[in-house]
Amino acid sequence: MASGGPEIEQLIQLLARLPGLGPRSARRAVLQLVKKKEQLMIPLSAALDRAVAAVRTCEVCGNIDTMSPCSICADPRRNESGMLIVVEDVADLWALERAGVGAVKYHVLGGVLSPLDGVGPDDISVDALLGRVHEFSEIVLAVNATVEGQTTAHYITDRLGDAAPKVTRLAHGVPVGGELDYLDEGTLSQALRARTQI
Ligand code: ZN
Repeated sequence: MASGGPEIEQLIQLLARLPGLGPRSARRAVLQLVKKKEQLMIPLSAALDRAVAAVRTCEVCGNIDTMSPCSICADPRRNESGMLIVVEDVADLWALERAGVGAVKYHVLGGVLSPLDGVGPDDISVDALLGRVHEFSEIVLAVNATVEGQTTAHYITDRLGDAAPKVTRLAHGVPVGGELDYLDEGTLSQALRARTQI
């Protein structure tokens, strides 16, 4: 047991659930918060309250923002490229935005098909995707290069049928900065199959 009382212990347990923080890091973070009550704990508490009141899940794409439709869906410049990028999770959307992929729009599936975990087609946002594809000229399936991700990509491609003019997926192969000798055989053979003309 911690020696900080039940309120402190609960705070530690909650923070320990965050990605990248285990019990030890959470305890250190909480200790820092209580030591710096005025400079850290009170502003953090107020910022959390404001965020709780403001966050919305976008009714169009599934992004998380403080408005719905989100700032990406509401941006008229993003209509011109005609590209809709389908991702598993909001974190993937944010990663692509950080990478500066351009004036595109997104669709968040909210997961991938995984029979072992009981995730079926009704548990991910495929019907909503089918309702949007007619607005775009290209659908990019940017799911993870996992078995579940690729199964989901095949399922979506089947469901799209002729509804989407062009369906593409991310290239799989040699990572930027990667050395061939260090790659696993699956990655290397996939990279050769997905070779491009210079
Ligand atoms: Zn949106």
